[in-house]
Amino acid sequence: MGSNAKRPSLEPIFSSKYIETAVELRFSDLPPFGVVAPPEAAARFGNSLCCARNIALSTDLDELTESLIAQPKTLPWGSAQSSTQSRSRKKLIWLDEGSREQAAQLMTNGPNAAPRQKLHEELVANGSGGVRGSSLCSLGLANELRQCFEVDDVPLAFQPNYAHADFPLHYDLPGADGFGRSIVTLNVKAKATILIEESLDHPQCRWRFELQPGDAWAMRGYARTRCAHGVSVMGIAVPTPCTAGCRACRVSLNLRCGAHDEGEVAEIERDWLASPEGAERM
Ligand SMILES: [Zn+2]
Repeated sequence: MGSNAKRPSLEPIFSSKYIETAVELRFSDLPPFGVVAPPEAAARFGNSLCCARNIALSTDLDELTESLIAQPKTLPWGSAQSSTQSRSRKKLIWLDEGSREQAAQLMTNGPNAAPRQKLHEELVANGSGGVRGSSLCSLGLANELRQCFEVDDVPLAFQPNYAHADFPLHYDLPGADGFGRSIVTLNVKAKATILIEESLDHPQCRWRFELQPGDAWAMRGYARTRCAHGVSVMGIAVPTPCTAGCRACRVSLNLRCGAHDEGEVAEIERDWLASPEGAERM
């Protein structure tokens, strides 16, 4: 960056007022932990949006947290052009050789695509088996997360995320780095508030729910294909990019399951582009 580079903004994307005006969702205590209140949200979301509190895993959460903190972090999470997002990082850990190529191809597509060289470095590092902690992001953990929310789609890849700032409302592009028919997220370290906007069908309706470490949530169907989501990291604003060993960030672990075919991707994206609210979130 040159001397004229803009200093990163530390302003949160979501003001506390914005968050408070979103209506809080309540979830069932029983699997698959779908939305139960308010009634109109329960009717529209049902089990397309789920959240489970303090889920039981055979992997120790503290051990998982430490291993994810220790990882080298190479891939930008969110737009590299955004001063607020460009400090956050993500990683990609595929679950088998078959999903490796599919995941890598999807990740190098789209507006927030991983640069090919960086993704290659990431894949080589993972593939060597020498990265501490990758072994905790195993097929066993993936299957526990899928079972929690009764997800049938095949697990493709884990995506650890390291947030140094809020992540604005956006849509996970299904034919690109936002791939996955069902997306499960384990909240690993620090609190967060998830914001959901029914951008296509009820753009005035915004909802929220708070996550503690150990909580997990999932989206598929209506919540995944017709709604935008964003993440408030509750005041975390770190002016520097994330590095190996960084303890300042909120850490979450996405599990991306099942891929849409090309026809489905085109249909989903066509609906987004046709709506002013949807297009704005792409
Ligand atoms: Zn960090």
